[in-house]
Amino acid sequence: MNKIDFNENDKIAILDIISYQPHDRHRACITLIEPSLDVEFESPTASLGNFRVLPCEIFDWVIKHSTMHAVSSLRAVNRRMRLLVDTSLPYKGIISNAPHVRATLERTGVAPHFTVEEVFWILTHGACRVCGDLGLYLWIPDLERCCYNCLREEPDLMPMSERDARAAYGLTARQMGQLPVMVSLPGNYKVSTTSRRKTSKFVSETRARQLGCAVHGGDDGLSKYIASSNTKAKAAYDKRLAKRSRPMSHDSHGRVNNTVDSIERYLVSVYLPYLDLESYTSHTGQACVGCRIAVSRARSLPYNDLTALIRRCGKVYTKEGLLNHFKECAAAQDLWHTKQVHRVVSDRVH
Ligand SMILES: [Zn+2]
Ligand SMILES: [Zn+2]
Repeated sequence: MNKIDFNENDKIAILDIISYQPHDRHRACITLIEPSLDVEFESPTASLGNFRVLPCEIFDWVIKHSTMHAVSSLRAVNRRMRLLVDTSLPYKGIISNAPHVRATLERTGVAPHFTVEEVFWILTHGACRVCGDLGLYLWIPDLERCCYNCLREEPDLMPMSERDARAAYGLTARQMGQLPVMVSLPGNYKVSTTSRRKTSKFVSETRARQLGCAVHGGDDGLSKYIASSNTKAKAAYDKRLAKRSRPMSHDSHGRVNNTVDSIERYLVSVYLPYLDLESYTSHTGQACVGCRIAVSRARSLPYNDLTALIRRCGKVYTKEGLLNHFKECAAAQDLWHTKQVHRVVSDRVH
């Protein structure tokens, strides 16, 4: 492909033409509306009680190392406390840039498992844990960031039901309390807006397996349990697993994968912007119009080329990242050149 040159002045115009925000993908996961920090409330009248003697630095330190749930409870003490908590760093960073994430962790029951510091870390690190691209989704059971392409099909990002986890790894309800067990929320999910009314409980299979190892005395102990267990629940789980493991379909990496685009993936995820601490900019993700057009026009491409194109279409970028992508995206360059020609023609006419 020919190298394309563009100057500083062109950058805004290029972004204007080739970028869009994929709101349909963001809305494919949990969607909760949370009032922003700007919502006014009456001036506080109550005092902070014993907390008033704490210096700000100590108070911030306490908030940072507390769980999201503990901080929510503290906010509920009175308006003065809420004011103090909301201006504490890094909690302020979370509720200023992703207020819906606080509400989502609370509503899905996992807020007692994650600290403010852990959530802030995820907010400020933009790479997908699987592929390293910019990822704008929080995979809640592991508090990990992922991109849309990996969310759709990565085997590790398919959650396990609580029932399966208990049966597979011989865990009691009490032991499960050590894991972030997530309760899904009724709503519409996936780009195809599939409605889900009933709620279910999910965990990360990795965490459930680690807990199983700890409970049964390591890998060997867990393997012995798996080989010897003859409970009804385990037998029912084995049956479900055998049914799910039949090689019915493949993913874009060519792996046997029956869970591509399963609704459960979206039930445990929420849109999460990326806060770049260097520039203190919140990146909401720009996708490429050129790639979208290329997918819609793709007719007779070989399967591998088509899946690669679809994966590219599923990517999002920072503004700078999209400009870099522009340098190697023929479809986006075509769009830009077409606009340039139109502009010249229109200038001549006028
Ligand atoms: Zn990824
Ligand atoms: Zn493109």
